[in-house]
Amino acid sequence: MAQITVLSQAVADKIAAGEVVERPAAVVKELVENSIDAGADRINVEIKNGGIKYISVEDNGKGIPAEELETAFLRHATSKLSKIEDLFEINTMGFRGEALASICAVSEVSIVSRTRDCDFGMCMSVKHGAASEKTEVACNTGTLMVVENLFSNVPARMKFLKKDSSEGGYVTDILGRMALAAPDIAFRYTMDGKEVFSTSGDGKLKNAILNIYGIDHAKALCEVDYAEHGVRVHGVVGKAELARGNRTRQTLFVNGRYIKNHVVSKVVEEAYRNILMTGKFPFFVLNIDLSPQLVDVNVHPAKTEIKFANEKEIYNIVHCAVKNALYKTETKQQETGKDSALTEKAGVQLTDRAEVSPAVVKEFMQKTIPSVKNSTAPYVFNEPRYDKDFTVDYGRPSQGNEITFNLSDMAKEPENDTPEVKEETLIPEILDFVGSETKVCETRVVGQVFDTYIIAQKNEEMFLIDQHAAHERKRFEMLKKDYFEKKTMPQQLLAPIVIDADATEIQAVAENKELLSNMGFLMEEFGRGSLIIRETPFMGDEDDIKTLALEVISALSDNRPVGVLSFEERILDMISCRYAIKANKKLSILEMEALVRDVEELESLGISTCPHGRPIKLSFSKKEIEKGFKRIV
Ligand code: ADP
Ligand code: MG
Repeated sequence: MAQITVLSQAVADKIAAGEVVERPAAVVKELVENSIDAGADRINVEIKNGGIKYISVEDNGKGIPAEELETAFLRHATSKLSKIEDLFEINTMGFRGEALASICAVSEVSIVSRTRDCDFGMCMSVKHGAASEKTEVACNTGTLMVVENLFSNVPARMKFLKKDSSEGGYVTDILGRMALAAPDIAFRYTMDGKEVFSTSGDGKLKNAILNIYGIDHAKALCEVDYAEHGVRVHGVVGKAELARGNRTRQTLFVNGRYIKNHVVSKVVEEAYRNILMTGKFPFFVLNIDLSPQLVDVNVHPAKTEIKFANEKEIYNIVHCAVKNALYKTETKQQETGKDSALTEKAGVQLTDRAEVSPAVVKEFMQKTIPSVKNSTAPYVFNEPRYDKDFTVDYGRPSQGNEITFNLSDMAKEPENDTPEVKEETLIPEILDFVGSETKVCETRVVGQVFDTYIIAQKNEEMFLIDQHAAHERKRFEMLKKDYFEKKTMPQQLLAPIVIDADATEIQAVAENKELLSNMGFLMEEFGRGSLIIRETPFMGDEDDIKTLALEVISALSDNRPVGVLSFEERILDMISCRYAIKANKKLSILEMEALVRDVEELESLGISTCPHGRPIKLSFSKKEIEKGFKRIV
């Protein structure tokens, strides 16, 4: 057995570097954050070969004093924090003093920096942690950092990088979001010699959105600005037409820092209930500004996850802010006469508290549902897990038959934690609407039995549809198409999942890396005896993901076809099955209608069974039923 030894500083640095800089996008993020912290209002970023070969970040910030240049590269060297109490008062992006040291440990860095009160700049380079002598150079105030040949001394890390184009895509994604977070900074971003975007830095979020996402997005926005209990939520949310089948165009900043927080996404999506179909995700760029003391950003080294001190209250404020913005925009439109039909007909007044009558809800649905008929976008039934004690209160219909969104109510503890209560408040509206508008779906959904089968009717026939079999087949077809066209959209897990694995399993994963990634999985070895799952084909709950991963890995190790399915199809089916709605799950009418449309679409392709060959649908003609009741002979 190997002796226990203390790691050398160089090895320890490389390991630590892996935590902070996983890929070129993380380097860009850290460098740009430093530029922002230095007060820059102009930042130019250039990358080559996805950032693996070359990254440069140039800013006009305050620069690094010549005598501090070397210190900036030391681990835990920071100008932003000196005593532990400061940790709770942080307003800057960085504070751990790790980024530069980490980047230098795994690449070749050149830095040129000049402060305003110095007539010349200083230039220095650091290769794999070893620094060169400093030299004086003539340059403008500010800092230029060039990072070349990332991970050239850490082959294990290098192996996990994706194609240049994918890595470049991650850089574009993160930089776009940073530019949205700071509309008052002029960003210019160039990839392989071509400008990808540049923002004007005029301080207007809408203009930054125009520069990054284009005119269609800039035209369909509702402004959000709402403050309560010292928490301010501001930014924009997109109108229904900007909604997508995934969450990639949702951006959240907390105190200016880009954050991934599923619960906030869910809360925003709840505010769109009745406006968007299940499986459609709204566009948004939202900022939550609150006292730094209420946030613990230190929970993850890459700092994209946070914890709020008083989560529930913050989520409620976000919900209210978005709801207000959405319904206020409707009010504004009628005021300007553009869309007066809406509340005129409904005969209600929309106030700041966004009191919405069922009639308005119906109008919204009428406006949005017909467009859904032709939609082929996937819908998602598996939702990320909520905190057990968190429920958004939609308000319940009061005597006046109105649905009232009232903040003080929202701040209260929900009386009942089960989501079904929420469903019940809305289903009568939906039923009413669906009944009055049979055009929407030619096949009419009648209901659900045993929480497992959908009953539907079309012309002279009645159907029973097995919800799990139908959804599984739909997912299977989607996945198969994406897989063979190499278009799978992996979902990055908020918190990667670690599973135990033996040597054969680890080897099976390593050998099938490409197949797995084409299926939407990113799994890699994580220390001895374990694998880490970072991306999955769909969002799901942790237990489901673990079980699925283990199933898939064991299938990979015994690589053989089963029954009617090829080896690859067998794995795709495991994924579809795990993420399909289960039997024994109550569905809303809208969900059932969506499923019925999918069944019809599958039938039009000649598909009538689940991937294993079990039927999706049973039909009973009116005649058969009448015969059964001896109405006819
Ligand atoms: P942190 O940002 O967490 O303090 P870093 O390793 O990212 O740690 O940076 C170390 C220090 O180097 C910063 O605290 C800052 O003083 C200095 N620094 C880094 N980049 C810049 C820059 N672009 N402009 C001015 N100072 C910088
Ligand atoms: Mg930093």
